[in-house]
Amino acid sequence: MSNLSRRTFLKQNAILGLGAALSPALPSIAFPSVSTPAILGGTPLFKTEWPKWPRWNPETDEPRLLEVLRSGIWSRADVTAEFEQQWANALGMKRSLLVVNGTSALTIALNQLDIRAGDEVLIPPYTFIATAAAVLANGAMPVFVDVDPETFQIDPSRIEAKITPRTKAIMPVHILGLPADMPAILAIAKKHNLVVIEDACQAHLAEVNHQKVGTLGHAGCFSFQNSKNLAIGEGGAIVSSDDAFMDRCFSYQNFGYPYGNRVGSVSTGSIRQGSKLRITEYQAAIGLAQLARLDAETTTRNVNAAYLKSRLAAIPGIVPYKLYDHVTRGAFHLFPFRYQQQAFNGLSRTSFLKALQAEGVPCSSGYATLNDQLFLKDAFASKNFRKVYSRKMLNFNEYVARNACPMNAQLCNEEAVWFTQNMLLGTRQDMDLIADAVARVHQHSDTIRKQTNG
Ligand SMILES: *Cc1c(COP(=O)(O)O)cnc(C)c1O
Repeated sequence: MSNLSRRTFLKQNAILGLGAALSPALPSIAFPSVSTPAILGGTPLFKTEWPKWPRWNPETDEPRLLEVLRSGIWSRADVTAEFEQQWANALGMKRSLLVVNGTSALTIALNQLDIRAGDEVLIPPYTFIATAAAVLANGAMPVFVDVDPETFQIDPSRIEAKITPRTKAIMPVHILGLPADMPAILAIAKKHNLVVIEDACQAHLAEVNHQKVGTLGHAGCFSFQNSKNLAIGEGGAIVSSDDAFMDRCFSYQNFGYPYGNRVGSVSTGSIRQGSKLRITEYQAAIGLAQLARLDAETTTRNVNAAYLKSRLAAIPGIVPYKLYDHVTRGAFHLFPFRYQQQAFNGLSRTSFLKALQAEGVPCSSGYATLNDQLFLKDAFASKNFRKVYSRKMLNFNEYVARNACPMNAQLCNEEAVWFTQNMLLGTRQDMDLIADAVARVHQHSDTIRKQTNG
């Protein structure tokens, strides 16, 4: 630091300190500088735009889409089959099945693995509601297994304590696009003869030991919702190496007609209880355009995430995610870290987020706790549930107590902070600016806390 800038720095800090101590009403905006945090009137560190999401390139992406639109063949047909083949190839699988969304993919997969009323399914609480909703939709009971706060993933060491004679499946979620500890989970599943359905809805192209997640269990499910790393708007996929299972899933999403039935032929008759969860051809055309970019984007996210992690780890009170040793690639749908308030002079997470947002860095506190929400109580009050489960099992307060997950509560209520995947598509300089913004908030945390009552 030069003499001049050092003097300026000291003067500004003296003024800020005075402002805080004597006159909270003193408008700090009168003293903007490079070092003053934006929330106290300084210039935001981040001035450029973040990469937009989803991406769309008219030149490369529109010809195929227009061709589909002009063809008049809009219901499931050859373009859907082409996307399914390409998605399977990207995962190193023989086939995949495209359906309307990730929630349906999970619901169908559970259903066709015969997870039904009376069964228990082990899931982590640190996830999107769809994981639990898919279990309930089949009349089965979600049982929550607490997470490892270092990885944000289901904690394998807590699984066996939750297994009962009713447990039929484990549904690990590769949450935030970081792979769960699959070797440990698969070993437990094998020992207890449990089905494994991977919720890979946030984990496109993530890998464990060079194998894509979603291909490691009996079935894997993906989402192509607008925010996801492969965005169609809505869409989902099921993968499995079990051909008979894949045939059944196909049949399910097409009214229970036998596998191979072409859309439009109605005379075959249905062979199983199903529904109609078919994707359209124009959605598949959008998917093909997005898939062409996915691998390169995934590499960019991995490189930027590793660099950002190394910079953030140097800031006291910031504890970035940990990857398991066997993870060979992340998907980084989100970039998570734990915020430790004590190292920021007691500045609350809410105020930390506001200060970071003021610097031009979008961030959030992520999920609320899932395992105590009222949708569970609502399901338990339904006629179907009351016919299958005992009164005791359906007592909501007892359920919440039985499913308490303190590590998850700590992440949700106190520590977790997320950056979104599109930020990781920025430049290395963008990553430096994110880290600089966090460092700036850390440096001024005491003043920020005093001046914002946070
Ligand atoms: C997005 C998501 C789903 C559901 O996918 P949709 O396509 O939105 O239905 C399921 N699980 C997780 C973890 C998700 O993030």
